Amino acid sequence: AGTLYLVPTPIGNLGDISQRMADTLAEVDFIAAEDTRVTLKLLNHLELKKPLISYYRHNTEAGGQAVLGRLLAGESCALVTDAGTPAISDPGEDLVALCARNGVDVVAIPGPCALITALAVSGLPTGRFTFEGFLAMNKKNRRAHLESLAGERRTMLFYEAPHKLCATLEDLAAAFGPDRRIALCRELTKLHEEVRRTTLGQAVEWYAENPPRGEFVLVVEGAPEPEEQEITLEQGLARVEELRET
Ligand code: SAM
Repeated sequence: AGTLYLVPTPIGNLGDISQRMADTLAEVDFIAAEDTRVTLKLLNHLELKKPLISYYRHNTEAGGQAVLGRLLAGESCALVTDAGTPAISDPGEDLVALCARNGVDVVAIPGPCALITALAVSGLPTGRFTFEGFLAMNKKNRRAHLESLAGERRTMLFYEAPHKLCATLEDLAAAFGPDRRIALCRELTKLHEEVRRTTLGQAVEWYAENPPRGEFVLVVEGAPEPEEQEITLEQGLARVEELRET
């Protein structure tokens, strides 16, 4: 069988095209693209001509079978989405699982990814984090999910569309409190790249006055450690005594 290559593409800056990205696109037999028009622009930029087929959220079933069939027949395929790393909050996850189930090799090429770029620049702890992707559209589900994250200690990352940002910030402030720190990473790698490091309460106020534009990754500080209870030596010894008696 052929190999499926996951080929990341720039999240806004064509300078982020890597040699390996370009070589892989040049070498594969065909490309599966989320939006063939977007990918055509990239191929034109690279002066490449390749057969393209569509693989997008609403045809993952039929599209997946079509790609798998060609891979099993020995062709190699590059999966490309509109921006960033395929399979991260965009079509691709299902295709990788399908290939894995059918014994087809998958090779992921490292490259641009909005979440890792945002985490790195956020100024918040990066050692442990949780990626939450896009929140549910449904207000009730979204709030319930955020409530369940209120005690999460790890840094949390969310993807968000600009027209939903204000509502999401309000929900975040309600669930985590207005003092929790947030880094709003906007238009990363682009001309109007901006990182706003503030609190949830201040972010709600700022964006109510200044309507958000562009693409955002929200990086939210985790919940504080519960304060350790200090006890005196006498209290400690009394506790040991107590345990001994039981
Ligand atoms: N697969 C992509 C990746 O690896 O980052 C993510 C695809 S997801 C459909 C698109 C979301 O990623 C946007 O809504 C936004 O939250 C985030 N995003 C993509 N490009 C961005 C950029 N240049 N700046 C900030 N956020 C970006």
